Amino acid sequence: MNMPVPKAELHLHIEGTLEPELAFALAARGGVTLPYADAAALREAYRFSDLQSFLDLYYGLMAVLRTAEDFTELTDAYLERAAAQGVRHAEIFFDPQAHAARGVPLGTVVEGIGASLERSEERYGISTRLIMCFLRDESAESALATLDAAKPYLDRITGVGLDSAEVGNPPAKFREVYEEAARLGLRRVAHAGEEGPAAYVREALDVLGVERVDHGLRCMDDPELVDRLARERVPLTLCPLSNVRLRVIDTLADHPLRAMMEAGLLVTVNSDDPAYFGGYVGENFDGVRDALGLTGEQLRELARNSFEASFLEDDEARRERYLAEVEAYQFDGE
Ligand SMILES: [Zn+2]
Repeated sequence: MNMPVPKAELHLHIEGTLEPELAFALAARGGVTLPYADAAALREAYRFSDLQSFLDLYYGLMAVLRTAEDFTELTDAYLERAAAQGVRHAEIFFDPQAHAARGVPLGTVVEGIGASLERSEERYGISTRLIMCFLRDESAESALATLDAAKPYLDRITGVGLDSAEVGNPPAKFREVYEEAARLGLRRVAHAGEEGPAAYVREALDVLGVERVDHGLRCMDDPELVDRLARERVPLTLCPLSNVRLRVIDTLADHPLRAMMEAGLLVTVNSDDPAYFGGYVGENFDGVRDALGLTGEQLRELARNSFEASFLEDDEARRERYLAEVEAYQFDGE
């Protein structure tokens, strides 16, 4: 059995890596009662039917994440799985507002995740960056207050992102907070063009100044935008299994990934909320390979893209090393 191709994961919500077994272990330790008989019953509930039932479960289960240690264990569990799937570099999202709303301060979350990330290279061979996301269905004022609360921790935070319910919450709502993030020297990404229109992708670029677009697949509705994204080499972080589970597309065979590659777009493959969407980054790679008939050379391009799109500008020697590993990799059948 061949080792998986080396890759970076750039679209991963740490809260979305909470597996049922760990949820029960953390609940037991923290004295939290979950409304499910056991991990198997909870796993059944993970087969949600639409976006709202996913979000209800997702936010409900966060009740088990209370202490810094809980966040450390959650992050360790992700990194261990990611390492086994060939991930060499991970840029990890977290949602401070979802935790603050239930009385868990931003500092606890950052300290907890950070304790895992600090030893990630040594333990899992994965370099990391941390990206703080704002919930777009919350107000711009709340996002600004969150950025303010993060100021003591900026040595651990590489950038800001924007996630949660897209439609009706256009990027421009967060102009001010992204301007402030830029002043603080933070990198900028945003979810756009997942369920929302191609116009949201333009707005994320023009109004928020994002350097990378999360999802972005609806750009395919707008050929001029596709040309621009290709010309400017703006990375798009695609999450194929998530798109199927949230009904953005019907099946993996309908995924525009291959067409996007052929249009010259810098696309990457990621897992989004892997505990909930049926697989980690390895399953996403295997899924699109099988459903879209991708060749070894196309898979190599996706792996190469993931490192090119990553925020490794402060460590170009490392990026070169990773890219060399991708070039040297032998796909099955090559
Ligand atoms: Zn996402």
